[in-house]
Amino acid sequence: MDHSALDRAAWHARRYLDHVDTRSVAAPATRDALLARFDIPLGAEGLPAARVIDDLAAAAEGGQLGTGSARFFAWVIGGALPSTIAAEWLVSAWDQNAVIYATSPVSSVVEEVAGKWLLDLLRLPATASFAFTTGCQMAHFTGLAAARDHVLRAVGWDVGTQGLAGSPPIRVLASELRHVSLDRALRYLGIGSRQLEILPVDGDGLITPRVLEGALARGNGPTIVGLNAGDLNTAAFDPYPTLIPLAHAHGAWVHIDGAFGLFARTSERFAALTDGMELADSWATDCHKWLNVPQDCGFAAVRHPEAHRRAMTIHDSYFVSEQAARDPIDWTPEWSRRARAFGAYAALRELGRDGVARLIDRNSAQCEALVRGLAALPGAELVAAPRLNQGLVRFLDPRLGATAADHDARTDRVIETVNRGGEAMFGGVTWRGRRAMRVCVVNSQTDEAAVQRTIAAVARSLSADPEGHRH
Ligand SMILES: *Cc1c(COP(=O)(O)O)cnc(C)c1O
Repeated sequence: MDHSALDRAAWHARRYLDHVDTRSVAAPATRDALLARFDIPLGAEGLPAARVIDDLAAAAEGGQLGTGSARFFAWVIGGALPSTIAAEWLVSAWDQNAVIYATSPVSSVVEEVAGKWLLDLLRLPATASFAFTTGCQMAHFTGLAAARDHVLRAVGWDVGTQGLAGSPPIRVLASELRHVSLDRALRYLGIGSRQLEILPVDGDGLITPRVLEGALARGNGPTIVGLNAGDLNTAAFDPYPTLIPLAHAHGAWVHIDGAFGLFARTSERFAALTDGMELADSWATDCHKWLNVPQDCGFAAVRHPEAHRRAMTIHDSYFVSEQAARDPIDWTPEWSRRARAFGAYAALRELGRDGVARLIDRNSAQCEALVRGLAALPGAELVAAPRLNQGLVRFLDPRLGATAADHDARTDRVIETVNRGGEAMFGGVTWRGRRAMRVCVVNSQTDEAAVQRTIAAVARSLSADPEGHRH
C-alpha cells in the first residue's frame, strides 16, 4: 500500500497539534467558507490518496473547534493524550471489526483487559459486566436495556420475546438535573417521557431521601431510578448511601450517570462524593471526556451480567465462538464496530493509576482557580462555587437600575466576546433562571499558564464591552 497519505496525515496532525496553543479556540471559519471549500463537484475519477489528505487538511483549516486546547472550557468534551491519538491511528490502520472474538482476537482481549482495569480503577464490582460504547449516551442505553430486561423479568415479563406492547409499564424516576441523554436512551428503549417522573432537587442540586421515598411510594411495579454523579452545572453527586438502599427496598434498579463524575472516584480528595455509588445496578461514563481519549469512547458497567447479556446478545450461524473468549456483541448494541477500547487501554497505561487521580485533582484545582479568578473580576459574580471540575460565574450590567435581563444580556455578551476573541472558549447556560458562564476543566493539556491567560482574556473582554464602561 502507498504510505504517502499516512505520512501526510501524520505531518498535518503534528502541525495542527503544534499550533493548537496559538490557534483560535473557537472555529473562525464560517459555514459558507467551509461549504465553498468542501462542496465541490465530485469528480468522476479519483485522486491520489496523499492529495486527498492534503486537500482535506487545507479545506478543514479554521473549521475545527479547539477542543484539544488548554483553554477550552465549554460543554464537557475532554482532550486527548498523545498515546490515545496514536492508538486510534493504529486502530484505523488495523481496521479491526470488534464484533466477535473471531473477527478480531486482539480487540476482544484488549477490551476484556481495559474493561477490567476500569472496573478496578473506578472501584466498581469486579464481577460487573461492561461494554465500550460510542459515548455515555449509548452507555445509558446499554445499562437501561439491562435494567428494562431485569425489572420486567421480576414481574414475569420477558421483554426479549414478548416485547413492550402489553407489558407492565415501567416507571423511571430521575433528577431534574439529569442530562437529557438519559431521556433519549429511554425513548430508544420504548420508555416515553410520560413514564419519566422528574424528581425535584434541593438547594445543593441533590435528590433527598424524602423526595425519593415519596416518589417510590406513589407508584409500584417495575421501576428504574436514575441518579447523577456530577451534573453539568455544579457537579452535583446524589447521596448514594441513603438513596440506593431506599430504591432497592422498593425493588427498583439504580442507574448512575457519571459521564465525567465517575472519575472522581479515583481521587482521594473527591472520592467521598461518590461513596455508596458502588451499590448501584448500572453505571455509565465516558473515556472520551476525563480520561482524555479521542471521541468516541463511552463505558457502561452492569452489576447483573445475565440481564446485560440477555439485553444485547444475539447469534447467527456464521458466528464462530471461542470458549472463554469475550464476544463484544454479547454486551454492546452495535454489530460491526470500531475497536474502541484501545484508546482507553492506552490512556490508562500512559497515565497509570496515580496519573488518572492526579489529572482529576489538577483539573479540579484549575477549575477552582479559574472560577475564583473570573468571579474576582470587576462586575463579575460567583453563581455556583466550583465543585470538582465545574463552576458558574456571571457578569453584571454596571448601569444604575440594571435589571435581571440586563445582567443576563451582559453575561451572554461577555461569553460571546471571549469566544470571538479566540483566546478561550466557554458555554452559557440558564441556571435557576439566570444566565451564567459555565466553566468546565477536563483536559490534560490545561496548565496554570492557561488559567492565567484565560482570566486575562476575560478581563480584556469585560473592559471592551461598551456597557462595562458606563457607571
Ligand atoms: C456528556 C454527558 C453525557 C452524554 O455523553 P456522550 O458521551 O456525549 O454520549 C451524559 N451525561 C453527562 C453528565 C454528560 O456530561
